[in-house]
Amino acid sequence: MESTDLAAIRTALTTERAHLAEMIGEAIVAPGQMTYGSQAAAASQVFEQQRDLALRDRSTAQLELVEAALARLDDGTFGTCLRCARPIAPARLEALPWAAMCIECQTARDRERR
Ligand SMILES: [Zn+2]
Repeated sequence: MESTDLAAIRTALTTERAHLAEMIGEAIVAPGQMTYGSQAAAASQVFEQQRDLALRDRSTAQLELVEAALARLDDGTFGTCLRCARPIAPARLEALPWAAMCIECQTARDRERR
């Protein structure tokens, strides 16, 4: 098996974590900051706020994956599929360092969810 560059993975995960934390912070709009000039402006502002909330939800979920991957790096289980316990392909980890499952298990689980 090809070895994975864990130091590079850790750097990528740490960078991603900082980026996500920043996005989550920015997406929070305090209600007091909402200023409605017109109905149209109000509608677009509500739309933007909903979009921001959806973005924040996705970012929060992603942040959890990144945090979990960093925890696995620390406890030495990084790169092992959580479902079948086989090694995750290094190419997959390079593309998606927070991947918790091998491609086969991820595909199988995505199919089950539908
Ligand atoms: Zn697997």
